[in-house]
Amino acid sequence: MTKRTISILGATGSIGLSTLDVVRRHPDRFSVHALTAGSRADELAVLCREFRPAVAVMACDVAAERLRALLADLPETRVLSGESGLCDVASATGSDTVMAAIVGAAGLAPTLAAVRAGKRVLLANKEALVMSGQLFMDAVEQHGAELLPIDSEHNAIFQCMPPDKVRDPRSAGVTRILLTASGGPFREYAEKDLRTVTPEQACAHPNWSMGQKISVDSATLMNKGLELIEACWLFNTSPDHVQVHVHPESIIHSMVEYADGSVLAQLGSPDMRTPIANGLAWPERIDAGVAPLDLFAIGRFHFERPDLQRFPCLRLAAEAFASGGTAPAVLNAANEVAVAAFLEGRLCFADIPVIIERTLVAIGVVPADSFETIFEKDSEARQWAREQISLLAV
Ligand code: NAD
Ligand code: MG
Repeated sequence: MTKRTISILGATGSIGLSTLDVVRRHPDRFSVHALTAGSRADELAVLCREFRPAVAVMACDVAAERLRALLADLPETRVLSGESGLCDVASATGSDTVMAAIVGAAGLAPTLAAVRAGKRVLLANKEALVMSGQLFMDAVEQHGAELLPIDSEHNAIFQCMPPDKVRDPRSAGVTRILLTASGGPFREYAEKDLRTVTPEQACAHPNWSMGQKISVDSATLMNKGLELIEACWLFNTSPDHVQVHVHPESIIHSMVEYADGSVLAQLGSPDMRTPIANGLAWPERIDAGVAPLDLFAIGRFHFERPDLQRFPCLRLAAEAFASGGTAPAVLNAANEVAVAAFLEGRLCFADIPVIIERTLVAIGVVPADSFETIFEKDSEARQWAREQISLLAV
């Protein structure tokens, strides 16, 4: 049994809490070095009392002050703040494994810090990889980090490939990756009805319980677009070799097709503790607290092609990947701004892809030659997207 010391970036979120649930089941195997959160100090304080990390980080100073006050009687937990605090704990020698579960571009710098420290990096924060693609994968290679996918689809694909051929699947006879998608809560909605859907409806995912941003991404199919890009980087392949299959039951988490006609699939209940436990313990297998799959109760599987007319975000993501350079970072930034505006009632659901497309057209693509360039384009795109949103009435 391999013992691991873990730092969890984004501990108070949906993935963070599921990770802690798996960790809690294996006190002999896992200990917690650091826990981090954005602004919810009270929630992090509760977790610190249970897991007693050496370090806790809040993204903002005010929240860090509050956490210090809440943990005044726990001197063993040092409280840091800001991006520098997040990067410090991600790279600190106190842990060998980092769960990258901050949502959005805010996770890039800390995730990269963990990569550069050569750790086992459990990647939930797909936006970090989408933004920086080649540079991120180069850093993984250069620093000998062990990058394991936590996104359920990518973890499924990883499980269906020979472990030593993950970066060169063609040499293992892989012909296609079949990336499954639930289709989201609006799969059966008419195009005209997508103008009036609410954030509450968008966040009520039929199969998965997730953070708000990824729930909206699932509803627009941008999540699948980001995952298409993520798959191309993780498995060193191109979009022509990845085919999205809408599978509303969300039991098959993805499939890998081989030259001899075999298709390997990974199945399981839609519960993120399965891929999280797989990444934490890999190559060993541990109890994740997930109920056994009851295929008799599920009965049938269905598959459909994605509808790019009603859900243009998947097309926009594929186009951004094809444009290359900084285009995926611009796509991601515009999407984050548009989703936040939708959640705040300032943008209608159907205008999310409109904002993203306008931003992609306006912000020219340049080669992604450094992380600085990526961060510059990210802020340029955010500013442009915000201006466009203010021009569109809800
Ligand atoms: P969430 O919103 O539930 O949690 C996000 C976490 O990040 C919280 O702990 C929050 O405090 C922290 N955070 C937010 N903004 C921050 C900032 N600016 N600086 C520092 N910390 C910040 O999100 P989630 O659903 O857990 O998703 C996390 C990541 O995992 C996302 O990238 C998502 O795409 C990915 N993911 C999630 C799921 C899922 O089932 N939830 C599945 C696959 C991939
Ligand atoms: Mg996924």
